[in-house]
Amino acid sequence: MHLNQLPERAREVVEYRKSGLSLNHIQGCPLDCAYCVRHTYGLWDQRQPRALMTDAQAVDELVKHRYFRPNVTPIQLFNRATEPFLPKVRPHTFAVLEELDARDLTNHVLVITRHQLNQYDADRLNQLRHIKVTLLFTYSGIDRPEIEPYPSKVAAESLKLMSAPRLRNYRTILYWRPLVPGLNDTDEHLADARDLSEYADATVFTGLFYRDQIAQYYRSNGIPEPYALTARRKIVPEALEARVLAAFPNTVALFRKTSCAVSYVHGLPDYNGHYGIRELCDICPLSQLELCRAAHRVPTAVEVHDVASVLPEAADLKVVDITERAAVVSGLETEQPRYFLQHSLGFQVHDERHPHHEKRHGRADIGWTEKPA
Ligand code: SF4
Repeated sequence: MHLNQLPERAREVVEYRKSGLSLNHIQGCPLDCAYCVRHTYGLWDQRQPRALMTDAQAVDELVKHRYFRPNVTPIQLFNRATEPFLPKVRPHTFAVLEELDARDLTNHVLVITRHQLNQYDADRLNQLRHIKVTLLFTYSGIDRPEIEPYPSKVAAESLKLMSAPRLRNYRTILYWRPLVPGLNDTDEHLADARDLSEYADATVFTGLFYRDQIAQYYRSNGIPEPYALTARRKIVPEALEARVLAAFPNTVALFRKTSCAVSYVHGLPDYNGHYGIRELCDICPLSQLELCRAAHRVPTAVEVHDVASVLPEAADLKVVDITERAAVVSGLETEQPRYFLQHSLGFQVHDERHPHHEKRHGRADIGWTEKPA
């Protein structure tokens, strides 16, 4: 398939998302999870994985990208348009990881999967010496095939298998999502996730991206809609969060944010600088809290402008405010340059147009009763 035939948003093979610079030169997936982000890229009908370029070209495009900084930029592989361990995609996943590793890069590389993995995968991943690989196993516990035709229990088994070797060069995360009230939040669901979390190096819980395109899909397929409204951020209702926290003993490394968990499992401070948002850290292991505290440094406006100066699309950037929590900026048309600033500075950078409310950072207001601070 030629790039020009793709919907506009899907054409960007390298795209910045909050957890990292994302490489997506293979697109298409037959697993049909109803909440898949492919809906929002106009790619839902593409069920067979197809390569848009060779792996060597894709890695070249990634490392030459203006957003890429060696050993700093977190990378995400095939997290937007396909599943990295589908039989047809797997060789590309290994080829990219090995090519990055051969360049002696030490960047984080996040690989999100729900597929069956095997001993060969563990052995091959263990050959990687430089890049910091984190496998995030998407598990929801949803047992309704119209929502998740590819069952969560496969991911649960893969997580156990890949976490079993005592010595390994990669890390594992239980990526418990999407949590949806009324669908997968009974006490049994919570207990199952807690039991599974014992196998992983860390656990992240998060809600559903309930965007317009996904709501339309639910409606046209007769799937009951979980929320009356759609939202630009993930939805984690307050009461559900309280139950999750109560269900987990504090011996489990549990996180609200993907980057926090990924950083923790490699013994590093959070690369998104969430430490400034103090209320996010109340469930964090103490040793990690100390790492993030030591790394936390509030940049000056001059430093923010300096980092932004390499980006033509940040020419109109204005620093509106800088607090202990975040730098608030305006003048950026899209979110991508903001993530570049955030990861370069290791400090939160917020857009003036989309303020974050206290205690619900990065989350939709749906399901929270108190008025935002
Ligand atoms: S201390 Fe805070 S910012 Fe750092 S990993 Fe923990 S929760 Fe995240």
